[in-house]
Amino acid sequence: MHFIDRLHGTANLPRKGGGLALGRVLAPPDASEGVRAEIEARLGFFPSYFAPAERFPGLLDSLWRQQREGYYDNPLPETFKESLLALLANSCASPYFRIAHACRLYEMGVPPREILRLAEIPAPAPADVEQARALLAGFPRPIAQWPEQNPVFGEGMLTLCAAVFLGLKDSELCADALQDLLGEAYGALMLLLAYAKSAHFWLEAHPEIGCEAHPTVRRNFFPLVRQEPHLVEVFQNHRSRPLLMDGGERADAAGDGAAEGGDRYRELIENSADIICTYDFSGRLLSANPALERIVGYPVAEALQMRIADIIHPEYAHLGERLTDPAVVGETPFHCELDVVTKDGGRVALGVSTRPVFLGGKPVAVHGTARDVTRRKQAESALEEANRRLEAWVAGFDQRNREMALLNEMGDILRACPTMEEAHKVILGFAQQIFPVKVGALYILAPAHDVAESVLTWGDPDLAERVFFQTDCWALRRGRAHCVENDREGMVCKHVRHPPADGYVCIPLMAQSEAIGVLHMMQPDGVRMTEERQRLAVALADHIAMTLSNLRLHETLRTQAIRDPLTGLFNRRFMEESLALEIRRATRNSRSLGMIMIDLDHFKYFNDTFGHEAGDLLLKQVGLLLQTNIRGEDIACRFGGEEFTLILPEGNSAATQKRADFYRDAIQRLEVNFKGASLGHVTASMGVAVFPDHGRSAQTLIAAADKAMYRSKNEGRNRVTLAG
Ligand code: GH3
Ligand code: MG
Ligand code: MG
Repeated sequence: MHFIDRLHGTANLPRKGGGLALGRVLAPPDASEGVRAEIEARLGFFPSYFAPAERFPGLLDSLWRQQREGYYDNPLPETFKESLLALLANSCASPYFRIAHACRLYEMGVPPREILRLAEIPAPAPADVEQARALLAGFPRPIAQWPEQNPVFGEGMLTLCAAVFLGLKDSELCADALQDLLGEAYGALMLLLAYAKSAHFWLEAHPEIGCEAHPTVRRNFFPLVRQEPHLVEVFQNHRSRPLLMDGGERADAAGDGAAEGGDRYRELIENSADIICTYDFSGRLLSANPALERIVGYPVAEALQMRIADIIHPEYAHLGERLTDPAVVGETPFHCELDVVTKDGGRVALGVSTRPVFLGGKPVAVHGTARDVTRRKQAESALEEANRRLEAWVAGFDQRNREMALLNEMGDILRACPTMEEAHKVILGFAQQIFPVKVGALYILAPAHDVAESVLTWGDPDLAERVFFQTDCWALRRGRAHCVENDREGMVCKHVRHPPADGYVCIPLMAQSEAIGVLHMMQPDGVRMTEERQRLAVALADHIAMTLSNLRLHETLRTQAIRDPLTGLFNRRFMEESLALEIRRATRNSRSLGMIMIDLDHFKYFNDTFGHEAGDLLLKQVGLLLQTNIRGEDIACRFGGEEFTLILPEGNSAATQKRADFYRDAIQRLEVNFKGASLGHVTASMGVAVFPDHGRSAQTLIAAADKAMYRSKNEGRNRVTLAG
């Protein structure tokens, strides 16, 4: 049967205008009445869209059925349906749908800017389609519910639908993806697309169909274009199939090379050492390559259930917020470094770069690459640490220079100190500056060498013992610095009653390999005594030791110059100087001054009888007797040999004579024992002379006393004679 006969069906009607009679399709206008009535009942008016079909009841019925089932009764969300139809309308040669759906969207409350965007979206490029498929792959299959508010989903759907609708490259894959994703709703989507396809065909076949009379257009066109005037241009310049002309690529147009390129691109991503992923603005991961698992430990499937904030280390939460903020990452590329927590609880530093993913000119998601920069960061922080140490070392170097300068200055000043007292003051001043410790103390060993006595302290003096035995200090016992690092370890010296938490040092003051004292310093809490500081403390102790030993030597020399080594009494030179001084003072004060000259009797005999050593012992005993029995201001001297002199300031004849008699008696009573044997008794002859009566100068007074002493000898010895 001829295809026209099939169209005729059973009723053979006359063909309008002398043409063929096409039965149901080409029925007279009244045959369409039922359909028209149904359309009017449903829509409230009869759209001009259907007008050219009015004469063909079968066609009208079919067009209406397609519109009703594919569009009005289609269960897909209204906004999606309208947006998709508006987008697809860009590829229709007729502007009817472009205008009609734009107005409908406006009526539904979609912002004019969004309507303009939809009206200007070109056909998706292959990369867009690929991307949309990748983005949608992150959604559960099939979706349980249409994620209406999710821009990734919405834009991805529009892109895939456009690819299928336009038959672009990989449209079969897109159709498969849509089927997987939508499940049952796929049928509804296909009905919608089929309706759009046939409607486009219908409108293109009937360019005379205008939308001006459409009530939705009449109500909304002007308010819409007033808000978005650019739309007028878009509608006016509506060209046939702009969707395709703007870069759309049909499946058959894409060569094998492109497919290969796609595979290679995918391979690159799969094998990338860096994480390459996509996430939406809620932070949900939509896709990720295997590097994610290698670096962060989560298998990709598991990661796709997570949000990026779940793995970002809390310290970097602020960056996590920026990474999902459309105002930050939805506009321009964004770079940052942050730490993430790996599945096993470790910490990895990532260098992150993002760029927005646009679908139809709208940012819908974010592409991110993330590189493991942990090692680089470690190297950086190691470098920083090394720099810090270097700076500290340089700073320490300055500090050491300052301290060394202080030490040298102290050494200079100490060399100019004539006495111990002054030296102590200088040491204290410098030690306080160089060692601001909890307590510092300088101990000097007493001549007997078994007791250390503090001569100066700084800091808290209550923390330092004033006196202790030499054996109580490890530094003094061992003759070398003793450092205790903290109060838990090390041998604490007995003299340290309260060991400080951060330790202390004791440094012996060594002079000619003999300890003459100890420098003791306690660290303040929280400050460790570094080896550097220990060395400095030793240097300080060396300076102190050298100074003190020099001063001691000096003092010894001085003593040797004025004292008689055997008896410890002043020597003759000193006596003569002192006597001159005392005479001047007595002259000034108009006072008298007594002098006693003492000569032991028959001392030669004593020496000859008991030996020189015994003689020495006797001389020592007499010296001690005189020394211990004079008043503070009196001066006792060994004049020479077995002769002694006493100077008694303010002494007159009577008093001096009385004192002389006292000594004469005391010498006579002296018991001298040598090597267990008694040496018997000695006597002494004495001469007394008084200033100014017997002489006005040292020489004349000495001569007078000497003369008086000889008179005592001559008169039988063991007696006192006053100068005449
Ligand atoms: P006289 O009663 O006349 O003073 O008789 P003398 O023996 O004490 O007098 P002389 O001047 O003849 O002798 C003094 C002796 O003192 C001679 C000397 O050996 C002794 N002598 C002097 N200095 C020392 C000394 O440092 N140690 C000892 N053991 N003897 C000394
Ligand atoms: Mg003599
Ligand atoms: Mg004598």
